[in-house]
Formats: sequence, C-alpha cells, structure tokens
Amino acid sequence: MNILAFDQGTTSSRAILFNDRFEALSSASQPIEQIYPAEGYVEHSAEELFSSVLRCAAECLYGLKIKPDAIGITNQRETVVVWERATGRPIHNAIVWQCRRTADACEKLKRAGFADYIKEKTGLPIDAYFSATKISRILDTVPGARESAERGELACGTVDSWLIYRLTGNHLTDVTNASRTMLYDIINRRWDKELCRITGVPECMLPEVVDSAHDFGSVRRDGDIPSSLWGVHVLSALGDQQASLFGLRCFSEGDVKNTYGTGCFTLMNTGALPKKDRDLITTPAWSIGGRMMYALEGSVFNAGSAIQWLRDSLGIISRASDITEAAERSAKLDNDNVMFVSAFTGLGAPYWDMYARAGFVGITRATSKDRICRAVLEGIAFQVYDLVRAMETSGVSVNSLTVDGGASASDYLMKFQAGLLDLTITRPDFTETTALGAAFMAAITLGAADMDSLSVLEPPCRKFSPSMSEEQRRELLSVWQRAVAAIRAF
Ligand code: ADP
Repeated sequence: MNILAFDQGTTSSRAILFNDRFEALSSASQPIEQIYPAEGYVEHSAEELFSSVLRCAAECLYGLKIKPDAIGITNQRETVVVWERATGRPIHNAIVWQCRRTADACEKLKRAGFADYIKEKTGLPIDAYFSATKISRILDTVPGARESAERGELACGTVDSWLIYRLTGNHLTDVTNASRTMLYDIINRRWDKELCRITGVPECMLPEVVDSAHDFGSVRRDGDIPSSLWGVHVLSALGDQQASLFGLRCFSEGDVKNTYGTGCFTLMNTGALPKKDRDLITTPAWSIGGRMMYALEGSVFNAGSAIQWLRDSLGIISRASDITEAAERSAKLDNDNVMFVSAFTGLGAPYWDMYARAGFVGITRATSKDRICRAVLEGIAFQVYDLVRAMETSGVSVNSLTVDGGASASDYLMKFQAGLLDLTITRPDFTETTALGAAFMAAITLGAADMDSLSVLEPPCRKFSPSMSEEQRRELLSVWQRAVAAIRAF
C-alpha cells in the first residue's frame, strides 16, 4: 500500500509518498507566491495552489512506477476560494488566513452583539482569520458575484475543498476545515443558517461537510492532471494543525501536541465531548465513522520568531541552532534570574493582552550573550507552560506532550519544557507530521489501518524526561509570573 499525502501550506505545497509502514519513499515541494495587494492584505493564486500540488505529485512519483492506492490532503486552514461552478474558474485570488482586510466587518459583528452566539456555535472568537467574512468580501468586491452566488452559480470552500473539487469534481469539505469558516455548528454538525445570514454568505455556495476519513471521490482523467493520479481516490482531508495532532498520534483525551514554529500551535485532545473555554478555541480534532473528537486550541504568537530576532536583528547567534549550545553554556555558569517575555505582538492565552510588548528583566552587568540566548529559549517554554495550564482549566489534565516544528530541534528547550511541565516529552525523528497525519487518515478510510494499529507503531523518536525539582520549578514559575506582570505594567 502506498499513500500520497498532499500538504498545501501557506509558504509551500508538498507531496510525500508513504509506504505501508508509513515511511516516506519520496517527497517534493514547491514555494507559493505571497501576494500583498495592500497593507495587511494577503492572497494566493488559487490556480497556483492547485498546480503546485500537481507538480509536487508528479515530481514525487517520477521514475518510481508506483500508482498510489490513495491520496490524503492536509492544508492551510481558513484560506478561502470562490469559483464558478460551470467552469471551475476562481473569480478572485484565494484570501489567506493572515489577511486582515475584513477586520472592520468583524468589529461590526462584535458591536452587533454576536460574539457569544458565534463562540457557542463555532467554538471561535470573531476574527478576520476565519473564512466567513472573507467569502462575503469577495462577493462584495467582484461585480455581480453576490447575485450570481444567490442564483447558485458560485461555489466556495477552504483549500481542501478547492483541491478536492479540481481533482474529483465533487464539492466537499471535512469537519475540521468547515469548523474554521465561522459558519459551522460544531455541536449539531451543520452549516448554521443564522451565521450565513449575519455574515452574508449564501448557504448554497458551501460544500457538503463529511468526516475527515471519507471517500471524497476519484481523480478525474484530465489532461492537466498527471496520469499517475487518474482514478486514485482522495480518502482524507483535514486542516494542518489537526493533521499534526493526528500524525503525532495524540489519540487519547489529555494528549497534547505542540508545534514550535515561528509561533507555537498547541492542541489538546479533549475526547468525544467539546470543552468550552473562554480563552481558547474549541475545535473538531477529526471525525471518523461519524464519531467526532474535539480539541482545545491555543497559540503562542512569538516563539521561533524570537530566535530569528536574536539571529537576524541582533546578530547574537549566526544560526538558529546555535542557541542551544549558548543556553547550555549559560546553564553551567549562571544561576541568576534573567527572563525574556517574547510579547513582540502582544500575549495570547491566558493573558490576551494585545498591548503587551516584549522585555527582558533581571539584566545586570554580568549578563552575557549566552544568558540572553538562554532566557529567550526558556521564555518559549514558559509561554507553552502557561498555555497548557490554561487548557487544563477545561477539566482535562495533560496526559502526554508530543512535539514538532523547527525549534523543537533544541534539546535544551525540550529538557527545560519537560522540567517545567513535569512531563515526559516525545519528539519523533520524522518531522513531516502534518503529511503523516493525512496519510494515517487515508489509511483508515482504505481499511489498511485503524487507531489500534497506529497506536502500536514505534516510529524512531527521542524522549525528554523531567529532571527539575519541585522547588526549582516553583521558584522559576514565580519569577516568570513577576516578569510577565512587569512587562504588562510597562
Ligand atoms: P514555520 O512553519 O512557522 O515557518 P518551522 O517549524 O519551520 O516554522 O520552524 C522555524 C522556527 O524554528 C524558526 O523561527 C527558527 O528560529 C526555529 N529553529 C529552526 N531550527 C532551530 C534549531 N535547531 N534550534 C532552535 N530553533 C530552531
């Protein structure tokens, strides 16, 4: 059995071919052009999103004489495409999740008092990230589009839906992607008519919502599509963070995954019942056989970006990986309290302080460059600690932490994080966990795997056990809390 996973991301598209032991046989990637039509606006060419995936697939399969048994899809979330049903032609560039053009529309929804209703139905705060206001803006921008949409001539969808439509001709999406539109009722599992009305999105444009493990249809015999894909069925679709949760095998309640990237994306599996939290997003984790699993989601806005800042703006390190040795050197020499709170763009959960700005505290004449590096690395771990503790207020205790993302390569960060949380951390050697999650899900639809068989896989990984005393942890956390209070008071 071979599964071809597509990972259509914000900066690149990738394809990875997996064998039946979920080992990567080949892979390919293509960068995606970022289009910035105005300050705060971000777009992608919808055609490029599709063609880049096809190019990756062709490159991945080139010379292998393998026809995949299934395709799995994972994708950047919230980004949305509107196209003509008759021709499949997009009527506008894809509006990307980062795009802030509908911030005004979101403010209006807040002022009209819809925040509680939207949180209750969708698990989301009102924000320009999510697709609904972006779809409506396209209909208001392209002449005649709104009338055309109301006549049923236009379709819309998140990136999974767009790729599936172009590959198979079917207009479908999975629950994890539907849940990022701000239109989907995650409890009753249907598009919410009231949300369609208040955001101005005609329901007839929306795709049918199905499980993440589903037969989305077979790839069309079309000259534009590599013949090695013709007839292959698309057997999974899920948003990238959910795919990472699945690929890291966080299958049980209390399993947490953290991606240490530019920012951190943290998801906690909360089981078959949705947990409500004022400060965090309640989201479907996946759906298999009509059975939905839920998660809580939060993020640390600035994590790896602080390491980039040390490298690119301050020049304290020349490569991101240098930070680990610097921190280790400092840990041997220094036992003072220097803290860095990386609030470059405010603080997320549990503080939600958009006005906070970053700061070092505890600097003396003796503070070295290495000590600064260590404070930056430890600052990431403190913020993840705060987020995980915030998740636990839902009543679900953290059971395990599995990690991926660029900065998870730092052993010092992993050891420090394990100590703070008093928890063993698992870091798989294979880093393409998002694509792996899509492949796992497709294998489930194919009947070639189930949760039990995936649970017993033993992919090579490194484990980091806690080695911090209770007293040390208490002292560090108390200093951290004072550091956060100090920068927020600035
Ligand atoms: P994204 O997908 O958000 O761009 P990645 O998962 O590729 O992020 O991670 C990139 C981040 O990881 C960068 O901010 C970089 O500073 C950090 N990083 C990369 N390699 C290392 C390393 N060896 N040690 C510590 N941090 C690293």
